[in-house]
Amino acid sequence: MVSRVIPVAPFDLVLFGATGDLARRKILPGLFHRFEVGQFPSEARIIGSARSAMTPDEFRAQVQAAIREFTPDTPTRGTVLEQFLHCLDYVAVDARGDAGWAELAGRMRPDVVRAFYLSVAPSLFAGIARQLEHHGMATADARIVVEKPFGRDLETARELNASLRSFFQEHQIYRIDHYLGKETVQNLMALRFANSLFEPLWNSTHVDHVQITVAESLGIEGREAYYDQSGAMRDMVQNHLVQLLCLTAMEPPSKFTPNAVRDEKVKVIEALDPVEPSDIARGQYRADKGGDGYLDHVGDPQSRTESFIAIKVRIANWRWAGVPFYLRTGKRLRARVSEIVVQFRDPPHTIFPNVGPVHGNRLIIRLQPDEGITLRTTIKDPGPGGFRLAEVPLDMSFAEALGADSRPQDAYERLVMDVIRGDQTLFMRGDEVEAAWAWADTIIEGWERSRDQPYPYDQGSSGPEEALMLMHRDGRRWRQIGG
Ligand code: NAP
Repeated sequence: MVSRVIPVAPFDLVLFGATGDLARRKILPGLFHRFEVGQFPSEARIIGSARSAMTPDEFRAQVQAAIREFTPDTPTRGTVLEQFLHCLDYVAVDARGDAGWAELAGRMRPDVVRAFYLSVAPSLFAGIARQLEHHGMATADARIVVEKPFGRDLETARELNASLRSFFQEHQIYRIDHYLGKETVQNLMALRFANSLFEPLWNSTHVDHVQITVAESLGIEGREAYYDQSGAMRDMVQNHLVQLLCLTAMEPPSKFTPNAVRDEKVKVIEALDPVEPSDIARGQYRADKGGDGYLDHVGDPQSRTESFIAIKVRIANWRWAGVPFYLRTGKRLRARVSEIVVQFRDPPHTIFPNVGPVHGNRLIIRLQPDEGITLRTTIKDPGPGGFRLAEVPLDMSFAEALGADSRPQDAYERLVMDVIRGDQTLFMRGDEVEAAWAWADTIIEGWERSRDQPYPYDQGSSGPEEALMLMHRDGRRWRQIGG
C-alpha cells in the first residue's frame, strides 16, 4: 500500500524555540521528511527563532546536524537535504523583550499561509502572542500552535486561553497533544466509524471493560524540577490518557469536521463521574540496587508527587453505564508501551465440553512501540488430538500493512502539516482542555487535602501492588505491560 502525499500550499512557518530539544528531535526532522516526500514546495519557508544570536547559515548547519542525529536511518540524501536547508531562515527574538520583532515582521510574506509554532516554555506563550499582534503579524488567517503543558489546573488553563484569545480567534489556535497525531489513534476512529463490524458491539452490552496504559521504562531524567511540580496526573492523564479515553468512548460524530469530533470528545469528559479515592492508586518508584529512586532524583525526601497513577473511571452515559475504564501511566515500568485494550464480555454459554472457560475477545490498539491493532480470537487448537481451544492474535501491524518502503509518519509530521492545511481535528479545543482540567482538578484536590503519600514500587515492575488490586478486586486483570 503506497501512502498518497497531498501537497500543501506555500507557507511561512515561524518556529519559536527552534534551538530547543523538541524542535531538534521532532519538529525539524519531521518537516524535513515532509519536504523529502514532496508534501511542501521549495517556496515554503521555515523561520527559526530563539534568543541566541546566529546567522541563517549557522542555523542551517545546526538543523543539518539535528536531522543527521535524529534520523540516523535516513540515507544521506545530499541534494534533498540541501534544498530543504534553503527553505530555512533565522531571526533572533526575545519573547520577553522587543529585540528582533520588527525584523521578524519584515521577513513575513503577505500572500502565503502563515503559522507560528511556539515550541517554548508556556510562560512565554502570552508574550509571544502579544508581540505578534503588536507587530502586525497576527493576521486574520494566521495560525498559532502551542505545545503542552496547557496550564497546570483549570485556572491557569483559563488564563492561557484568555490571553491567546486576546490576539487570535479559537479557529486560529492549535493546541498540540501529539498522541492525537499517532497513526493508531486515527485508526481507532477509522476502525470504529469506517467499519460496520465493531460499532454495534461498542457498548456496555458487549464490552466488559477498557484498559488504557501509557507505560515508560525511563524515569524523569532531565525534567526533575518540572516533573515534581506536575506528576503523572498532570503530565499524562489530564491530556494524553483523557484524549485516548475520549476517542475510545465518544459517540460517532455526525461528520468528520474539527468541531463535530471535538464536540463529541467534550461530551465524554463532561460525562465522567467523580472518582472515589479508593479508585485511585498513586505510586513512586523506589531506589534499588540498580539506582536511585524518585525521591533521590527530585532531591526531596518529602515529595508526594506521583510517578505512577492508576485510576478507575466511569462514564455516566447510556452507552457506557457499568463499564469501567481503567487508566494507568508511570515511569520506570517494565517496558515502554502505550495501548488501549477493549475487553469484550465472555460468551454467555460454552457448548464445548472439557475445554474450560472461554474468554471474551480482546481488541488491543497499540500506539507504541509497533503501532498496530490485534484482535485476540479463540480458535480450535489445530491437530487431531481432540477438541481443544486456543487463543490466537489476529494481527495488523501498520509497518507491515504499509509495506517495507513506507515509513510510518511521526505524529509531529502529520500535525504540522494539518496546521498548514488549517485542519484542527487533531488539536484540542479550548473548552475541551478546560473540561479535562476541571475533572483532573477535583481528583488532585482530593489527594492534596488528605495529604496522601504515593505507594512505593519497584523499578522495572508494573507499578505498586495497589494498582493491581484496583482490578483484582473487580475480578479483572491488567494486561501485562509489554505482554
Ligand atoms: P528547551 O530545550 O528548553 O528549548 C527552549 C527553546 O526556547 C530554546 O530554543 C530557547 O532558545 C528558546 N527560548 C527560551 N527563552 C526564550 C525567550 N525568552 N525568547 C525566545 N526564545 C526563548 O525546551 P523543549 O524541550 O524544546 O520544549 C519546548 C516546549 O515544548 C515546552 O513547552 C515543552 O513543555 C514542550 N514539550 C517538549 C517536549 C520534549 O520532548 N522536549 C515534549 C512535549 C512538549 P534560547 O535559549 O536561544 O532563547
